[in-house]
Amino acid sequence: MDLVCPLCNGIKDTVIRCSICSAKMKDNGPIVNFLDDYSPYLSNDITQLVDGAPQDQCVHLFSCEKCKYDKRVKINRVRI
Ligand SMILES: [Zn+2]
Ligand SMILES: [Zn+2]
Repeated sequence: MDLVCPLCNGIKDTVIRCSICSAKMKDNGPIVNFLDDYSPYLSNDITQLVDGAPQDQCVHLFSCEKCKYDKRVKINRVRI
């Protein structure tokens, strides 16, 4: 069995509402994609440790297209 993130794999759609204006926030993907830009020599595993996210969670960056607010949301990985 594998632990996978339901959002990265398109299994599930999670609706996150903006804390500021309540609009539906857009999923920009896992935060490791962004961290990789700044730490090209780190593997994903190390990046996850740096980010403080446990192995069973995938941290996604959600952003509000209305007011530009963004936040990190921890998504629990599921077993498939
Ligand atoms: Zn994910
Ligand atoms: Zn907003």
